[in-house]
Amino acid sequence: MLPERTDVLIVGAGPTGLTAALTLARRGVEVTLVDQREEPAVTSRAAVVHAYTLEMLDRLGAGAPLVARGLRSVRFTVRDRDRVLVTVPFDRLPTRHRYALMVSQSVTEEVLTERLAEAGVRVLRPCRLTGLHHDGDGVVARFDAATVRTPWVIGADGIHSTVRQLSGIPFTGPAGSEESFVLADVHVDSTLPRDGASIFLARGGPMIWAPLPDGRVRLVATVTDPPAEPDAAYLQGLLDERGPGRAPDRVREVLWSSRFRLHRRVAEAFRAGPVLLAGDAGHVHSPAGGQGMNLGICDAVDLGETLADVLAGASENRLDEYAARRRPLAHEVAGFADRLTRLATVPPAARPARDTLLRLVSVLPPLRRRVALRLSGLNQRPSVGRDRPGGPVRTAGR
Ligand SMILES: Cc1cc2nc3c(=O)[nH]c(=O)nc-3n(C[C@H](O)[C@H](O)[C@H](O)COP(=O)(O)OP(=O)(O)OC[C@H]3O[C@@H](n4cnc5c(N)ncnc54)[C@H](O)[C@@H]3O)c2cc1C
Repeated sequence: MLPERTDVLIVGAGPTGLTAALTLARRGVEVTLVDQREEPAVTSRAAVVHAYTLEMLDRLGAGAPLVARGLRSVRFTVRDRDRVLVTVPFDRLPTRHRYALMVSQSVTEEVLTERLAEAGVRVLRPCRLTGLHHDGDGVVARFDAATVRTPWVIGADGIHSTVRQLSGIPFTGPAGSEESFVLADVHVDSTLPRDGASIFLARGGPMIWAPLPDGRVRLVATVTDPPAEPDAAYLQGLLDERGPGRAPDRVREVLWSSRFRLHRRVAEAFRAGPVLLAGDAGHVHSPAGGQGMNLGICDAVDLGETLADVLAGASENRLDEYAARRRPLAHEVAGFADRLTRLATVPPAARPARDTLLRLVSVLPPLRRRVALRLSGLNQRPSVGRDRPGGPVRTAGR
């Protein structure tokens, strides 16, 4: 049952909304978290949690239980068929999490939901936001059968965000940035090592091969015109065309498969008065590099901490600062994911130059370290961010 009033209303109980609610609840803020779905999604979706995100989740008591359910990937390898172009090791990262954690998004959401229940908050479902009315006293949020008054609304309601649309915030990006992807969790016979993920740079587009717990492998590939439910034969075709050549992988079983299409988009503002955006509501981009959900979780911790400070008496300007630091970061991460895709699709004549560049990364430790910091998200941490040419990106530390 929806309350008549709440201190913070969070719309959307994906990883971003759950994390924002947990951050606020642990700071003693009264929060209402709603989702339009009757049940949480049980599909795999985003499969990697990077080191910086794990550090953020540690602050919420959610890191250790998640690590216990995932698989540690200690390196990221860039390949062209059987040739290794670059190996980026994570074992020297300046963190206690010297790996990327491979775990399905439904497990990440389960762990966050469990922690949230311990903090006394449960997701109210199904509750679909249909209207937002601003008045001098805050916002009245309309649902199918009720209204809720609140001073603050967090839009964590994903790519088609109703909160963003009702607030008139444009969601913009470069023309022609639409890409289609195939995703699948499979069992394969493979000679690839299971303690690291690989990206294959192939003429048809990149293909990610990443180990998951229980002997599963996640495949993600950029394709044109993907089928609705890619089957074993389709996935075998992708592996034959893009994967290892000498000892090709053999698909034994498809456990889950899907496709999605997206444009690269970033919201033109992350704050409009009492409305704040985080996660996919604020940014979407290619899954190359596995950054999307990670960025959303880190947005949510930053926003939750900043809003808790404001509710405890800090200036509301702190929320403008949240928006000002997260938006450029969203652009930067979207650009990084695009560059990974472009590296795969360079024309044949440019391939030798690309490969030379990647080998240079491979043999120069400072460059390798820079790529590892960026993939892991640790370049966002102030103490580590000094390595970045643009200087540190602040997060709301406490
Ligand atoms: C098939 C698929 C595969 C993906 N694979 C990858 C991957 O490999 N790597 C990667 O990084 N990312 C991947 N993603 C993207 C990743 O899932 C998202 O980045 C992540 O879920 C974003 O989290 P979020 O909490 O911001 O939004 P979401 O997870 O989209 O959550 C938004 C929530 O808001 C709710 N909601 C929406 N509108 C309303 C409303 N009006 N009222 C109430 N509730 C509402 C929805 O029901 C939903 O639960 C994939 C996505 C899909 C769909």
